[in-house]
Amino acid sequence: MMLCIQALPTEVVHLITAGEVIDSLASVVRELVENSLDAGATRIVLSLWPQQWRVRVADNGCGMSLDDLQRAATAHSTSKIRQCADLWKISSLGFRGEALHSLTTLADLEILSRPHCGDGGWRIVYGYGGEARHIEAAAIAPGTVVTVSNLFENWSSRREGMPSIAQQMKAVQATIQQIALCHPHVTWQVCQNDREWFSIYPSLAVAQLLSQIVNQIKEPDLHELKLEIPNPDQSLLPTPDSLLSLVIGLPDRCHRRRPDWVKVAINKRMVKSPELEQTILTGFHRTLPRDRYPVCFLHLLIPPEQVNWNRNPAKSEIYLNHLNHWQEQIAQAIEKALRLNSTSIGESAHTTRVSQLLKAAEEKAAYNFNPSDSTEKSPTPYNIKAVAQVNNTYIVAEYPGGLWLVEQHIAHERILYEQLCDNWQIVPVEPPIILYQLSPTQVAQLENIGLDIETFGEQLWAIRTVPALLHQRDDCAEAILELSLGGDLQIAQVAVACRSAIRNGTSLTQPEMQTILEQWQRTRNPRTCPHGRPICLSLEEPALARFFRRNWVIGKSHGI
Ligand code: ADP
Ligand code: MG
Repeated sequence: MMLCIQALPTEVVHLITAGEVIDSLASVVRELVENSLDAGATRIVLSLWPQQWRVRVADNGCGMSLDDLQRAATAHSTSKIRQCADLWKISSLGFRGEALHSLTTLADLEILSRPHCGDGGWRIVYGYGGEARHIEAAAIAPGTVVTVSNLFENWSSRREGMPSIAQQMKAVQATIQQIALCHPHVTWQVCQNDREWFSIYPSLAVAQLLSQIVNQIKEPDLHELKLEIPNPDQSLLPTPDSLLSLVIGLPDRCHRRRPDWVKVAINKRMVKSPELEQTILTGFHRTLPRDRYPVCFLHLLIPPEQVNWNRNPAKSEIYLNHLNHWQEQIAQAIEKALRLNSTSIGESAHTTRVSQLLKAAEEKAAYNFNPSDSTEKSPTPYNIKAVAQVNNTYIVAEYPGGLWLVEQHIAHERILYEQLCDNWQIVPVEPPIILYQLSPTQVAQLENIGLDIETFGEQLWAIRTVPALLHQRDDCAEAILELSLGGDLQIAQVAVACRSAIRNGTSLTQPEMQTILEQWQRTRNPRTCPHGRPICLSLEEPALARFFRRNWVIGKSHGI
C-alpha cells in the first residue's frame, strides 16, 4: 500500500535536522568546543562520561549575560551572524545557531555562564526545544560551563548503531587534536570518568604541537614555514595578504605508512579537501620511499569570502573560490620548504657516543643550500669543497659549518632525475637498436615515452630514437627493454636516472666530485633521491665540537 504525502510533525523535523548536526559524542564535543573558541577561550577543560552519554565543556571565554543565556538554545539563535550578507564573510566557527537547540531535542542541556564584564553568573536548565525551564544564580568564575547529559536517550536506535565506547573516545580525541592544531594558543585538559586523560599545551610553534599530538613524530624532524601569500583578484579592494602556514616532515627523516597526517585547515577549521591534499602529495612527489606518505599540516588563513562552508552541516567540507590560485601558492610553499633546512635543535638521550654523534648530526642537519635568501630562484652555490672519496662510495665535503658525507650514486641520481624532468631529450641512434618478442603493451609503452619504434620483421622491432642519456651506453638495449616494462614517463625518468648515475664503487677525481656536489646542491629536492633514500649525512661543527669534548678545559694543572 502506498502512503499518501503528509507534512511531518514538527518534532520529527527537529529530530531529523538535529541528527544531522549531532550524530555522535565527537560531534557534541566539536560543537561545544567551537562555541568556546568563538567566545575567545584560551583554556578549555573537557570532561567525558561516555557510559552516561555525558559531556561537559568548561571555558574561560567571554561568557553570556542572563538575557543571552535565556535565548542561547532557542531555534536558529546566534550572536555570530545577523543577515544574509554575513554568510559570505564568516569568521567564526559557528554561525547556524543550531547546535545548542539541537542538543535540547537530543539530550539534557544545562549551561552555567558568567560574562567577564557583568555581575555574577547564572545557571539555566533547558527544556525540549530550548526554552529556559529553570533559572538560578550560580557562583562561577567568568566563562561558561556547558553540560550535555543522556545524549540520544529518546532515540535508542541511534545509540544502538554507535561504535564501541573505545572507538567513540578515539574519535573524540582525534576531534580535539585536530581543533587544537588549528588553535595553537589554547590549553586543553581532557578528563574521562573523572580521571585525567590527556592534555595539550599551547605553543607558538605548530611543529611542537604536532609532536605533542602524534607520538611517532619528533619535532626536530619537522620543518615549519609561515608565508604571506597574495589574494586572488586584487583588482577591487586591496585586502591584506593571506597567511599560509606549513609544517612538513623532512622527507629524509619522517614519513608514514598512510596519508593520515596530510591535513588541511582553512580559517582555523580542519577541512576535507581532496583537491588541496592532492596538491600536497604532488609536492612531495619523488622525495619519499615507495608507498610512504608525507607528514604535512597546511593551514590557510584567507579572506572569508573565499570560502563557502555550506557544503555539509558538519562544515568539514568546503568550496573554495579560486582553487587554482591557492593550489599554486601551496605548491610553491612546499617547494620552498623542501629546499630549506630546519635549524631546530633537539637533544636526545642516546646510549653510545657514536649514535649520539649521528643523531645530533641528523637532527641538526643544516643543509644550508640557500642560506641568504629563501625566495631566490637559483641559489648561489654554497661554499662547498670536495675533499676526499671514501670507499669509492662517499664524497667527503667540507663547508664552513662542518662536513657532509654524500653518497655519490644517489646524489647523481637526483641530479639526473631533475634534469630529465626538465628536459626529456630523445636522440636518434644509428644503427637502430633491435629488440625481440615485444608484447603490444611494451611497444605502446615505448611509444608513450616518446621513442620511435617500428616492426622490423618477424618478432623484431627497431628502435630508432632513445633518451639522450642512454645513447652512448653499452647497456642501451637492456635499458630500453626495462623501460618497455615500466609505467608512465616519470617512472621511465627515474629508471633512466638510476641506470645512468655514477655507480658506487667508481673512483672519482676531485673535480668530478666537485661538479657533483655543486649540481646536487642546486637541485629542487636535495634531501632524498627519487626513490626516497636520504642523500647526505651532515656533521655540523657544533656537534663535532661536542663529540670531541672541545669544551673541556684541559690545563697544565691537570697534568695532561
Ligand atoms: P552558533 O555557534 O552557530 O552561533 P550555537 O547553538 O552553537 O550556535 O550557540 C548559540 C549562541 O550561544 C552562540 O551564538 C553564542 O552567542 C552563545 N554561546 C554558546 N556557547 C557559548 C560559550 N561557550 N561562551 C559564550 N557564548 C556561547
Ligand atoms: Mg556553535
